Amino acid sequence: MEVEAILAGLIPSWSSVVLLSCYLGYLAVAGSVLPGKIVPGALLSDGSRLHYRCNGLASLLLLVALLEIGIYMKLMSAVVIADKGLELLSATFIFSLFVSLVLYAAGLKSRSQSSSLKPHVTGDFIHDWWFGVQLNPHFLGIDLKFFFVRAGMMGWLLINLSLLAKNYEAGTANLSVILYQLFCTLYVLDYFFYEEFMTSTWDIIAEKLGFMLVFGDLVFIPFTFSIQGWWLLKNKVELTKVAAVANCLVFLVGYRVFRGANKQKHIFKKDPKAPIWGKAPKVIGGKLLASGYWGIARHCNYLGDLLLALSFSLPCGISSAIPYFYPTYLLILLIWRERRDEARCSQKYKEIWAEYCQLVPWRILPYVY
Ligand code: NDP
Repeated sequence: MEVEAILAGLIPSWSSVVLLSCYLGYLAVAGSVLPGKIVPGALLSDGSRLHYRCNGLASLLLLVALLEIGIYMKLMSAVVIADKGLELLSATFIFSLFVSLVLYAAGLKSRSQSSSLKPHVTGDFIHDWWFGVQLNPHFLGIDLKFFFVRAGMMGWLLINLSLLAKNYEAGTANLSVILYQLFCTLYVLDYFFYEEFMTSTWDIIAEKLGFMLVFGDLVFIPFTFSIQGWWLLKNKVELTKVAAVANCLVFLVGYRVFRGANKQKHIFKKDPKAPIWGKAPKVIGGKLLASGYWGIARHCNYLGDLLLALSFSLPCGISSAIPYFYPTYLLILLIWRERRDEARCSQKYKEIWAEYCQLVPWRILPYVY
């Protein structure tokens, strides 16, 4: 009976389609019209650069304000996303399937030779559809890759806020719920505060836009990163004070390493002479940073992200493995990604990458890996 109910809940209702359309429509309009810093992207292989309008934080704050007004005026319910979770999941999944097929078809037709729009076709449909054909496809002037990742990160926060409303409704908003919500909210706000740093990340500069990224951004990020929130709706956890303090420490250390490493790399790319931790940076071959976090371990930023992911799960205690899905997934993803990125950097930077590896032998976890 329960399985039947779940399957029935998976069929998207018109209201979930409308909700999703309004959300994406809002983001498209807000992203195009709200003011934001225009940030030049990484240099592409044909010497061109894309430019990104970083107004994600403004778009998010305005959206939350509009939703609050809507809830206050009783035009909508604060728990609508939590109530329609499964339907929204399947509506978003169907949408990402549709978009990735359109991207594949449009990519095949592209005659552009620019790095952004040049089609990279292997002829293997599954491969081309999964990994994508073009690096930076656009629609109505919107950079789709930047748009989808924004939609996913904001969607994660909106799901969480709706789950929090549900917890309050049920009287189950205890310390573990508050900690989980607080850490995730800070992470998402920080993401948008530093949105310009995204413009130099692997997804934006190296990954083509296919089903993998569209699904990852629109479905995987919001619906699986929030598993702990769904789990806490059904399971009550009483954290001790010591556990709560330890949890906060994991979050703070993770945040410092994550943000510090990403910031250092971003600043270095803009100005290779800018001081790192108050000293002139150690630079290899004029291109690679070997100071600060990047002198402790290669991809030290991944370590910070893993600690943060762990801190989002610790509020759920250790009685179940389900809330640990996100850190486990991230561990696998980042180890895989680190290998792919190492291969890319080794090919791109050749002997200076080898010199960097000799100087900084640790990968992600200093003194261990
Ligand atoms: P990075 O931001 O680490 O970017 C990798 C690129 O940085 C390399 O291709 C190279 O690009 C450059 N680079 C690497 N080492 C150096 C160095 N020593 N000096 C100068 N440049 C260097 O990787 P990602 O884009 O994968 O990750 C960005 C952030 O996003 C990370 O913090 C990661 O944890 C997070 N993330 C989170 C995910 C999640 O699901 N929560 C998923 C994926 C990532 P170039 O050719 O420009 O030199």
